Amino acid sequence: MKVLVTGGMGYIGSHTCVRLIESGIEPIIIDNLSNAKVEVLSRIEALTGQQPLFYQGDVRDEVFLDSVFANHNIQAVIHFAGLKAVGESVAKPLEYYDNNVNGSFVLARCMRKAGVKSLVFSSSATVYGDPDTVPITEASPTGATTNPYGRSKYMVEQGLSDLFFAEGDWSITLLRYFNPVGAHPSGTMGEDPQGIPNNLMPFIAQVAIGRREYLSVFGHDYPTPDGTGVRDYIHVMDLAEGHIAALKTVGEQSGLHIYNLGTGKGSSVLDMVEAFSAACGQPVRYELCPRRPGDIAECWASTAKAERELGWQATRSVAEMTADTWHWQSKNPQGYSPE
Ligand code: NAD
Ligand code: UDP
Repeated sequence: MKVLVTGGMGYIGSHTCVRLIESGIEPIIIDNLSNAKVEVLSRIEALTGQQPLFYQGDVRDEVFLDSVFANHNIQAVIHFAGLKAVGESVAKPLEYYDNNVNGSFVLARCMRKAGVKSLVFSSSATVYGDPDTVPITEASPTGATTNPYGRSKYMVEQGLSDLFFAEGDWSITLLRYFNPVGAHPSGTMGEDPQGIPNNLMPFIAQVAIGRREYLSVFGHDYPTPDGTGVRDYIHVMDLAEGHIAALKTVGEQSGLHIYNLGTGKGSSVLDMVEAFSAACGQPVRYELCPRRPGDIAECWASTAKAERELGWQATRSVAEMTADTWHWQSKNPQGYSPE
């Protein structure tokens, strides 16, 4: 089986490609390298013995996409490509809507022309906004998003749902990721943010390796056990396996399939600092700071639907997430860039 993986050179896409190859599925990657390094290809090869086919190009480029579909017998698409920095999306809304929303619809149009109607889309728990209750189920209200990034994900979900209701022969799977963290256990692949990291784990990892002085803990007066924000952190390898489970179970069944990919457990910022300190063998310096605008107090997934229908559940602990992140960071202090 050949699967087109858009954004396959990125953090989640690259780990998913490793698992696809290991599952006997051939990934064909397209990526514009706006947030990835070509070095990722040799890392995938080092882990799997196979270098996936890679085309550098943009999902908004219809002619390019048509030629990729024309040249390969692609059965399904996993669509990771997009921009993902919440703060940047506030400053550059048009870029985010163009990349994420327009990009997804150009892709869907090219899929339809090519007769490929199985699509797995990278959505996000951000579509739930600030939840009234936790755990969040797939039936929880969506749409009360707080920034252009979140709205772009919600818009794509809406557009793809409309597409399915208009053309019922599609298999459309919306995977709502909670907080992906961690790295391949080999330390060969991991998250390599450009510039100052926005997300908690890569920031902690850069403090631990000495690239940053201390972590700013955003908010310590939330109604949570220790006052810091609580999230559902999920190991990127568990997330990768969630995609394989989705492809294999619902990827060939027409329908609109929606799943949370999380662990069902919440951890606070200070829980993560403590776990990372244990993993790297030294305390991670932090300072308690005011809340970050737009953040919510707590958020974690109900995993029941994915367990029941996909036969998938996350198995890796926070200790493994932090240990694997540290392994990657300490083996690759500057990420994929040479020192
Ligand atoms: P990433 O930036 O590492 O990967 C995205 C990849 O897409 C990059 O390699 C980038 O070069 C590529 N890309 C961007 N725009 C493109 C375009 N127009 N055409 C072709 N390639 C393009 O991000 P990630 O963390 O791996 O996230 C993958 C997907 O999952 C994204 O859609 C993101 O919004 C979603 N997601 C991520 C998180 C998270 O916390 N990492 C959480 C929820 C959802
Ligand atoms: N966070 C923090 N300092 C940072 C980055 C994040 O305290 O430098 C907190 C943030 O307020 C939230 C949690 O860590 O409570 C996870 O934030 P992240 O940006 O990783 O993901 P989000 O849940 O916002 O998508």
